[in-house]
Amino acid sequence: MIPIATTNPVTGQVLKTYEPMSDEQLDGAIDRADLAYQQLRGTTIDQRGSWLNAAADLLEAERDEIARLMTTEMGKTYAAAKAEVTKCAAACRFYATHAAEFLADQPADAQAVSATRAFVRYQPIGPVLAVMPWNFPLWQVLRFAAPALMAGNTGLLKHASNVPQTALLLEDVFRRAGFPEGAFTTLLVGSEAVEKILGDPRVRAATLTGSEVAGRSIAQIAGRELKKTVLELGGSDPFVVMPSADVELAAEVATTARCQNNGQSCIAAKRFIVHADVYDAFAEAFAHRMSALRIGDPMQDDTDVGPLATERGRDEVDAQVRDAVDKGATVLCGGEKPVGEGWFYPPTVVTDLDPGMRMWAEEVFGPVAGLYRVSSYDEAIELANGTAYGLGSNAWTRDPREQERFATDLEAGAVFVNGMTTSYPELPFGGVRNSGYGRELAAQGMHEFCNTKTVWIGEGTATAGVGAHAE
Ligand code: NAP
Repeated sequence: MIPIATTNPVTGQVLKTYEPMSDEQLDGAIDRADLAYQQLRGTTIDQRGSWLNAAADLLEAERDEIARLMTTEMGKTYAAAKAEVTKCAAACRFYATHAAEFLADQPADAQAVSATRAFVRYQPIGPVLAVMPWNFPLWQVLRFAAPALMAGNTGLLKHASNVPQTALLLEDVFRRAGFPEGAFTTLLVGSEAVEKILGDPRVRAATLTGSEVAGRSIAQIAGRELKKTVLELGGSDPFVVMPSADVELAAEVATTARCQNNGQSCIAAKRFIVHADVYDAFAEAFAHRMSALRIGDPMQDDTDVGPLATERGRDEVDAQVRDAVDKGATVLCGGEKPVGEGWFYPPTVVTDLDPGMRMWAEEVFGPVAGLYRVSSYDEAIELANGTAYGLGSNAWTRDPREQERFATDLEAGAVFVNGMTTSYPELPFGGVRNSGYGRELAAQGMHEFCNTKTVWIGEGTATAGVGAHAE
């Protein structure tokens, strides 16, 4: 079991540890979430919106302090942490503003179904368990919590064991914003408690953002319990560069896309697939930019890349690179685990990869890029779609016909052409294949944890009929 503790990845020093909740405490927390659901579902959207706007106010007012805590717990740069808090506040405001529109009754063609009125109504389903990762410790939770609370559900957060203070802070923010006691609760438990929580009849559904292993486990439990799940899992996003692309711009965005959040983002571009016509120019510009990034203390303004969040994560990245090098891959820059304190790993570009190497098929959760040369559009698509994942994807081309083809042919939950894959509250987010299922964000994300109820109303007179009888 992973201890529930804050450990600074810059020094490896354990700063604070927590005892997991007892079974009794857990039962009480689930009970309060259930009671709060009975209360929350009866409140108006305006009321919930005013609480969510108050949460946004608190996040904005306390941004620097919250960001410092996130940086201390998982090593992202302070600048990135501040931007994450700001994004979370904006997402709260987005849902506070748009929930009424997303949750409004949707009229259907009453005449076609022999009704006087027919429509779809969205209603909450109850307490939802959210199992979340440490990489965007605030954003991953907010993008579930904001729409869920606006819909009238309550949230039970089992956060990653290495970000307990951020998890507790979030509970505190929602409480101070005015949400009823139990509307959003942090459960300080290890992953072994998930089975029990999801098996509890008061808990109606689960959302997980995390690894494929965790996804399979939660899907299995939820299947047995017949409970809805949304799974946001790993990815090995392709970043395809075609001859008509602005190569310098593509290399600049490629560097940010690979190294954002110290390389630990599910939608980071991980495999760079470049047409032979522009391969040499791209490889040179990319390796140059990657090696120019400054590694160091994430609290310093001039640091681009901080440490990886855990020692285990850093060792895994190093093992994947070593495996490739031992089997004949070429390192264009980086590739050596630094000695000394902290779980740092340098921005790295590896090429001459082949299917026998781990990096070919696995997700690399650190600032390491795999670089591939292709000679045609078809070859690019085959390689891009050639892993078990399908989360985000990137294509760089100024040819309108190719842009259309990429939009259709890339097997992923998102395709970004000439821009970096990013999550926006306005757009649905999620994956296909082993990257998971279901969507977060936008109206689609809000509807995942709603009862999409069909309402059919007849005239109620003998002559008007009572609807067709075949199922
Ligand atoms: P992880 O080990 O799966 O941890 C994520 C969460 O799941 C943590 O709260 C963890 O708790 C819990 N967990 C782990 N194993 C579990 C199990 N067998 N049953 C139930 N819960 C379990 O993920 P990670 O390696 O820390 O995070 C990185 C992964 O998350 C990458 O694959 C990344 O791509 C993916 N990710 C996906 C998205 C997306 O939106 N698709 C976003 C971010 C990250 P403990 O901490 O207590 O182990």
